[in-house]
Amino acid sequence: MKIDSACHCGNIRYEAEVDPAKVVICHCTDCQTLSGSAFRTVVPTEANSFRLLTGKPKVYVKTGESGNKREQTFCADCGAPIYSGPPGADAAVVSLRVGTIRQRDQLVPGDQYWFRSAQRWLAEMPAMKQRETQPVFDAKGSFGKD
Ligand SMILES: [Zn+2]
Ligand SMILES: [Zn+2]
Repeated sequence: MKIDSACHCGNIRYEAEVDPAKVVICHCTDCQTLSGSAFRTVVPTEANSFRLLTGKPKVYVKTGESGNKREQTFCADCGAPIYSGPPGADAAVVSLRVGTIRQRDQLVPGDQYWFRSAQRWLAEMPAMKQRETQPVFDAKGSFGKD
């Protein structure tokens, strides 16, 4: 399916083709650190379908446990992760960060990688308290009263 994406500030926009059956969750500790969250949701592009429309992502090269280097790209202005790929500008397939894809509600994960480092509380989420929005931050930055 065709998807399109914009980072939070809108400076970086791209479009691509993806197969919705290939959406995966990655629980590796690098994804936890780099996303600032419990896990990352990713989908690979169909070969040579990635088209950067505006902006230029900043690149951080990480070395994985395998020794392979991967470029992690993000918006230098708002910090939103964009994609990862092999070093160099000629990658045929890159791994998109699903959270910045406009059609993300249609991209449902079907597999989980690196489950050995998954946060154990994820299994308890259905039983956790759920709020439609959030309590308001007060002027000093803490959450207000309910
Ligand atoms: Zn941005
Ligand atoms: Zn990962």
